[in-house]
Amino acid sequence: MLIVQKYGGSSVADAGRISRVARRIAGVRTKDHNVVVVVSAMGDSTDNLMQLVKEITDSPPERELDVVLSTGEQVSIALLAMAVNDLGIPVISLTGYQVGIFTDNVHNKASILNIETKRLREEIKQGNVVIVAGFQGVNQLNDITTLGRGGSDTTAVALAAALGADVCEIYTDVDGVYTTDPHIVPEARKLDQVSYCEMLELANLGAAVLHPRSVELAMNYGITIHVRSSFNDHSGTIVREVESMEKALVVTGVAYDLDVAKIGLYNVYDKPGIAYKLFRNLADESINVDMIVQGAMHDERNDISFTCTQGDLNKALEVVEKLTDDLGADGVTSDDSVAKVSIVGAGMISNPGVAALMFEALSKEGINIEMISTSEIKISCIIKADQVTKAVRSLHKKFNLE
Ligand code: ASP
Ligand code: MG
Repeated sequence: MLIVQKYGGSSVADAGRISRVARRIAGVRTKDHNVVVVVSAMGDSTDNLMQLVKEITDSPPERELDVVLSTGEQVSIALLAMAVNDLGIPVISLTGYQVGIFTDNVHNKASILNIETKRLREEIKQGNVVIVAGFQGVNQLNDITTLGRGGSDTTAVALAAALGADVCEIYTDVDGVYTTDPHIVPEARKLDQVSYCEMLELANLGAAVLHPRSVELAMNYGITIHVRSSFNDHSGTIVREVESMEKALVVTGVAYDLDVAKIGLYNVYDKPGIAYKLFRNLADESINVDMIVQGAMHDERNDISFTCTQGDLNKALEVVEKLTDDLGADGVTSDDSVAKVSIVGAGMISNPGVAALMFEALSKEGINIEMISTSEIKISCIIKADQVTKAVRSLHKKFNLE
C-alpha cells in the first residue's frame, strides 16, 4: 500500500511541529505501508520571502521570483527528513527537480505536465520514506517553476496520480472542509464528504483549504482526497465522486471572497464587437475577469460591469480608461469595497427556488445585491464587503447547515 501525505505550512511551522509530523509519519509507515510525503514551506515563510522580494523591487523577473519562492520548501523537506531520520526510519528528501516534476513555462503559476517516477520508485523500493518539496517543478530548460500559492496540494495529488497511490491525505490545521468559515460562523460543521464538483466550486470561491487545481486533478484521475488535521486523529473530509445525486444536499457550503473589485462602464455602444474589444484587451493584460453583467439595452446603449481581484483593479482601470472613447462609454466607476458570497450544492440542479431562498435571506438582513451570477451548482452575489459576515451567517442558517 502506498500513501501520499501532504503537510501544509502550519503543520511544519516550527521545530516542535516538524517533530510531531515526523512521529505521525513513523506511525503510518510499516513494512507494507510506504509513504511519500509532500511538504509546504514552514509557516509564513513563503509570505516572508515575498515580502523580502517587495523590499527589493516592485517588478521582480518571474524566473527569479520562482528561484526565491521555491527555497522555503527546500528548507522544510530537509528538516523533516532529519526529524524522521532521528526516529530511526530510512528517509530521503527530494526537490522537484530531483524527482523530475516537469511543468510548463508559466513562471509563478506553472502547471505540471509530467512526473518522472523512476527515482521515487527506487527510493520507495529501498525502504525510504520520500519527502518531496511541494509547489515546485522545472520547465524544459530545467529552470525552477512554482505552481501558484497553495500549490503543494497539487504536487501531492499529482504524485498520488503518477504513483497510483492508494490514499492521498492532505494534512492541515483544521479538521476538514467546513460548511463555511468557522471563524465567521462558529456553528459551521465539518463535512464528512464532498463531491469533486462541489469542492472545486468551494475552492475557487475562496475556501482556502484546497488548491483548486489539486481538486481538478483529483477529479480527472479519480484520486480520493482525505483532508484532515495534523493536530489530532479525527477523520476529516473525503473528497470524491458522490455515489448518488439523490442524496446531494441542496446547499453544501457557503463561501466568500473579499479579494474582489468591481468596475462598471456606462452607456457603451450596443453593437457587435464591444464586449469583445473590452475583454480581449483585459485578457491581453492577463487580468482575470470573474463575473460579467451586461444590463438591459436602453437608447442603443448598454451598461457593462465586471469583477476582478483587487490586485488587478488598477491595471484593469487603465485598460478600461484607454478604451472609453472606442466603446462609447460616458462613465466608468469602480469599487474595491465589495465582496462575493456564494452558495454551493449539487442538489441545486434538481431543486427549484434556491436562488429565491438566497435572496430572501440577504434581503431580510437589509443587504443589497449588486451583481448575481449562477452556474449549475452555485449562486454568487456581489455585496458590500462590510456586510459579508452578516450575509454568510444568514445563508448558513437559511440552508440549515448548522
Ligand atoms: N508554500 C507555498 C505557499 O505558501 C505553497 C503551499 O504552501 O502550498 O503558497
Ligand atoms: Mg494550502
